[in-house]
Amino acid sequence: MKGIYLDNNATTRVDPRIWTKVIPYLDELYYNPSAQYTPSHQVKEAVEEARRELAQLIGANPSEIVFTSGGSESNNTAIKGVALALIDKGNHIITTAIEHHAVLEPCHFLQKHLGFDVTYLPVDRYGLVDPDEVRKAIRKETILITIMHANNEIGTVEPIEEIGKIAKEASVYFHTDAVQSVGKLEVNVNKLGVDLLSLSGHKFHGPKGTGALYIRKGTKLHPLIHGGGQEGKRRAGTENVPGIMALGEAARLAQVEREERYAHTKNLRDKLERGVLENIPQVLLNGHPQKRLPNTLSVCFLGIEGESILMDLNFQGIWASSGSACSSGSLEPSHVLLAIGLSHEQAHGSVRFSVGKFNTEEEIERVVDLLPSTIERLREMSPLWQEGEVQLT
Ligand SMILES: *Cc1c(COP(=O)(O)O)cnc(C)c1O
Repeated sequence: MKGIYLDNNATTRVDPRIWTKVIPYLDELYYNPSAQYTPSHQVKEAVEEARRELAQLIGANPSEIVFTSGGSESNNTAIKGVALALIDKGNHIITTAIEHHAVLEPCHFLQKHLGFDVTYLPVDRYGLVDPDEVRKAIRKETILITIMHANNEIGTVEPIEEIGKIAKEASVYFHTDAVQSVGKLEVNVNKLGVDLLSLSGHKFHGPKGTGALYIRKGTKLHPLIHGGGQEGKRRAGTENVPGIMALGEAARLAQVEREERYAHTKNLRDKLERGVLENIPQVLLNGHPQKRLPNTLSVCFLGIEGESILMDLNFQGIWASSGSACSSGSLEPSHVLLAIGLSHEQAHGSVRFSVGKFNTEEEIERVVDLLPSTIERLREMSPLWQEGEVQLT
């Protein structure tokens, strides 16, 4: 079935140009990169070339890149790895209320099992963290600040550069989950002032199960996966060579096409945004109007359930999401939408559209055509809407 895929923040299609780079490493170049014979050296060199591509994409040194299985592993390694390495120095971590579960859950784990104290900073109605709040939250026991670059649900882009300066002044390690910004925005570890940065291949047209953690030279961190000495003893296990080759090529393409992708996705997202806001009454825009990922549109259609909108759109071959793929399926509204101050009802009426490089103008035009009548029809059937209890703000 050919549908209209508008869930690119959940995952993206692998760019077909990447396949040809990968196939040899599943086939004749299957050797273990750590072995001593000649063809292994060729595989090892290819892995190092991919590492250079990835390092270049984020302005890092290749030796500061550790390949992982994706964003979740990178976040877990950064947070638990620093916490374990610095446990004698302090037990306080600063993060925000709107992080991905792959940041929140490691924090909860450290609180529950190792006695860590975690500050979850609030955000304003646009989802922005106030750097001053970060400064005020720092104590002498603070060992890590972890704040996402761009939010996956509402697209808000956080003031990472400013927070980076604050972290540096206080000599506290600073990690950012850049899974949503890599490939969409310029991401440079030195400009951002971060010590650790997580990225994930499948969010920028690489395969699922690939990713990396940037670890600034000199940063103290314990590995999560112990075993062999791969990845400079920072992540054991025989390298996922085909995955790494794909990630390297995805990084190269992301760098070459970044501006083009930005312009294309922003054009489509803006068109969709105008179509929704101008043709449908009682809609709230979630996230910051400007400081936002170019591809993300999160809106709340007052008076109806997001889930019923998604089901109806699905029936029409339009695939969007109600927030993060992880929280959908549960009845709890998204923690991100609650943190920006939406009521439970409003949060339940939210839908996230995230466009990608493979979407077309025609697809967006079709969605803009279909949405107003879909929303109107669903509202006619909604008791919430009928009772007239729906309020903006
Ligand atoms: C998708 C996502 C993750 C998890 O990445 P995986 O590679 O799927 O483990 C982490 N953080 C953010 C912001 C994400 O969007």
